[in-house]
Amino acid sequence: MSELAYPYEAPASQALFDRAAAVTPGGVNSPVRAFRAVGGTPRFMVSGTGPYLTDADGREYVDLVCSWGPMILGHAHPEVVAAVQEAVARGTSFGTPAEGEVALAEAMVERVAPLEEVRLVSSGTEATMSAIRLARGFTQRTKVVKFAGCYHGHVDSLLAAAGSGLATFALPDTPGVTGAQASDTIVLPYNDLEAVHAAFAAHPGEIACVITEASPGNMGVVPPLPGFNQGLKDACATNGALFVSDEVMTGFRTSRAGWFGVEGVVPDLMTFGKVMGGGFPAAAFGGRADVMAHLAPAGPVYQAGTLSGNPVATAAGLAQLRLLDDAAYDKVDAVSARIRSLVTEALTKEGVAHTLQNASNMFSVFFTDGPVTNYDEARAQESFRFTAFFHSLLANGVYLPPSSFESWFVSTAHDERALQRIADALPAAARAAAEASA
Ligand code: PLP
Repeated sequence: MSELAYPYEAPASQALFDRAAAVTPGGVNSPVRAFRAVGGTPRFMVSGTGPYLTDADGREYVDLVCSWGPMILGHAHPEVVAAVQEAVARGTSFGTPAEGEVALAEAMVERVAPLEEVRLVSSGTEATMSAIRLARGFTQRTKVVKFAGCYHGHVDSLLAAAGSGLATFALPDTPGVTGAQASDTIVLPYNDLEAVHAAFAAHPGEIACVITEASPGNMGVVPPLPGFNQGLKDACATNGALFVSDEVMTGFRTSRAGWFGVEGVVPDLMTFGKVMGGGFPAAAFGGRADVMAHLAPAGPVYQAGTLSGNPVATAAGLAQLRLLDDAAYDKVDAVSARIRSLVTEALTKEGVAHTLQNASNMFSVFFTDGPVTNYDEARAQESFRFTAFFHSLLANGVYLPPSSFESWFVSTAHDERALQRIADALPAAARAAAEASA
């Protein structure tokens, strides 16, 4: 480990972490936040403004996590905050239909052509769980195909060979998922259409759906090879299965219409979260009207939620979507391109083997020669170099995802000052990566 790894302390964060550990498993409410992959004290943040987060010790960081994707306009965008304040003042939950949820659904349907109908839920996990149930109910089949390294939330049947936190901790699986749930899940290597055709041949009439991240960001950023998503769609259509595209991460981020807007492959069902909630718990699934018609109360497949379509969350999401015009995406794409070139420049200068991959403005660095096209290749990287790189940047006021298996996220708020901070911090981080040893 490089000497730069822990040259600084974070006493206020450490005190909060100690308190948290006494009342919450591992001291966090979502595993990757705990810094276990990189070591050290997780930073407890007290505020966010634009591209910056400030921690409990009063240190300011340029945020390259953006709440794992949602904060595409930066933190506390004044118009989103105003919409939230206005909504809160009218009441925080009604348990009845309200206009805000109609407006958010309309805005989503207007942007994403394959989305004929949409059902709002509260998390990406709920969205994928519900989409799988609907696919099973619609096709009256049981099996689900997923890809190694793709994360679809902590849905029991989808935790097999998942990315994100499971990749970070190298967990092959998790206790608590039954054999029956696992055996209905077929896990295939990503970007391997032959394996998909073989699975359909081996399980005729049994596969309800193929679910994939539209462009994966949970094993690091590993975009689909040209023709892969279309091949999935075609294989599903030929075999009577549904093609489910998980756009929880990419939706309304990689373009106005998410990854669909980049590639144009039409799924049967899609899932959303993150950006559409404006930093609040809002998510959705939707797609073909004839499939969605099977959902209660229109149809027999049950799905519900006390806080689904929450008026504050929908106000935040709608305000954020309204601000996301073409100019906003141009800005986010430009910020991403600039940071990517700064990172490559710094690592190349230090002779560090790396591959920088992106899916429009989502990107990540693999500490290995690329390209990285699947989970096995992602796992072959030298993650110990990331640890040194991460801590050096953290010490110099740049906050990366605390894992080499996660996408980095930027926002319209990342301005010249923020970019300069990153540019200034990168040379030392690249040196730390070069000097790191396993
Ligand atoms: N699907 C994808 C592609 C994700 O990246 C995530 C979360 O990171 C989820 C689903 C689950 O979303 P949530 O964490 O809101 O449950």
